[in-house]
Amino acid sequence: MTTAIVVGGGIGGIVSALLLKRNYDNVLLVERAPVPGGLLRTSHTRDGLSFDFGTHFVATTGLDDLDELLFDFVNAEDWHEFDYLKAGHYHGGLLNGNSTFIDARSLPRQTYLEGLEQMLLATPSDETPVNLEQQLDDTYGVVFRQQLFTPVLQKLFGVAPQQLAPDAHLLFGLQRLLILSADASRELKNLPRYDQCIAFHQLDEGVNRASVFYPRHGGIGRWIDGLTEKLRAAGVEMLTGHFVQGVGHQNGQIDSITLDDGRHLECDQLVWTVPPFLLAKAADLDVPMHAPQLRHTRLFHFIFDRPFTTDLHYLYVHDPAMSAFRVTLYSNVAGQDHDPEHGCHCTVEVLSDGKEELSMLSERVCNELIAMELVPEDAVCRYINSEALVAGFPVLSREFVMAGKQQADCLTRQLNNLHLLGKSSGSAFFMNDVLREVYDALNVA
Ligand SMILES: Cc1cc2nc3c(=O)[nH]c(=O)nc-3n(C[C@H](O)[C@H](O)[C@H](O)COP(=O)(O)OP(=O)(O)OC[C@H]3O[C@@H](n4cnc5c(N)ncnc54)[C@H](O)[C@@H]3O)c2cc1C
Repeated sequence: MTTAIVVGGGIGGIVSALLLKRNYDNVLLVERAPVPGGLLRTSHTRDGLSFDFGTHFVATTGLDDLDELLFDFVNAEDWHEFDYLKAGHYHGGLLNGNSTFIDARSLPRQTYLEGLEQMLLATPSDETPVNLEQQLDDTYGVVFRQQLFTPVLQKLFGVAPQQLAPDAHLLFGLQRLLILSADASRELKNLPRYDQCIAFHQLDEGVNRASVFYPRHGGIGRWIDGLTEKLRAAGVEMLTGHFVQGVGHQNGQIDSITLDDGRHLECDQLVWTVPPFLLAKAADLDVPMHAPQLRHTRLFHFIFDRPFTTDLHYLYVHDPAMSAFRVTLYSNVAGQDHDPEHGCHCTVEVLSDGKEELSMLSERVCNELIAMELVPEDAVCRYINSEALVAGFPVLSREFVMAGKQQADCLTRQLNNLHLLGKSSGSAFFMNDVLREVYDALNVA
């Protein structure tokens, strides 16, 4: 009898367990929380309105076998399917309903022209940049880095680009800028160098062929319910409310784990989807340590008595004057399925240093929704709730990213039958990147 153990019951762990069940007799999934799902959980009000906990939308990966595993229970009766989401952004005091990317044309004319010249003449080096500041300067020029990127990165990460690792801006979807006209941008994007950093002006241009899904009722947690049902049907044993205290190994082979309740479980394969330093501790191995710095990440859930003044599904708030990072407007996603009797509901994600008093912050965020003209000025807020994420957004400093890579290398060098996967492994953050990585690692015929 062969046994594989998966630690962490987020989407990375759930899909790992389903794939492992194809090759192992026993698969056990250890999840610290009372229920699986991680950042794809949902809470509900008494009226039946649902608020998601982190990630909202799920999309096909383009890998047929994986998509079958993930979405074969997703049907038109219970789920919305979108070719693309209506997404926008707020920056410089303006709402743009056609793009999530910052509009460089919002800068004073002279500054914009100077920045534009720098960006178009920039020649990114083939060498890996030492930090995000250098990467942004090489790609967009100093003017756009200083005027556009630095203020929003400072707001989101709490530090300047000089202290961040290259690519840290991708965590917040800041890879492109809106410049020039729609036609000129389209033309320039034919060149790969410009395609990387210039945005299309309309949402339906350049969309990939993924289908995006959201449940008609019950929030994104419904997807986890469907996958949990699959785990049960496949015979995966779920050990919720537990964590791993010890990992036994000999000659580079993991042979057992010990749970917090003292249970000793033998295994032939371990998949670890929670922070790697916890494995180093449980296995009593020396790895380079660097305390992870997480941004205080808080979700504010609101119900208003009036419809939103936009039809966007979600928007990024790049404006440094606002505390909000992203607003998801569930009632707009529900469209015809939404019952206006229950009011209109949204979630605002806020990243901060955590110093501001909660009641003041929630009032400020509520006022921001009115100031951004997403909610009518005379709307009454019927409900406010907030929750903090323990595993929020990481501050991707150079030291943190480097230590994460060293930890992962060190652990996988010392332990043969180990896979470090999921967003905590440090090599992927977005859900579909995590899913593809899991599939590549565990889909062994
Ligand atoms: C606020 C927020 C918004 C996001 N929005 C998006 C988005 O819009 N699009 C997108 O693609 N991605 C988004 N992401 C990233 C996305 O949520 C992750 O890619 C996805 O959740 C990764 O799944 P995971 O299983 O690796 O991690 P998680 O979902 O974090 O799951 C980890 C699980 O491990 C459990 N756990 C932790 N410690 C232990 C332990 N010691 N023992 C056992 N179990 C443990 C946790 O309880 C949790 O259930 C967002 C992330 C955050 C923080």
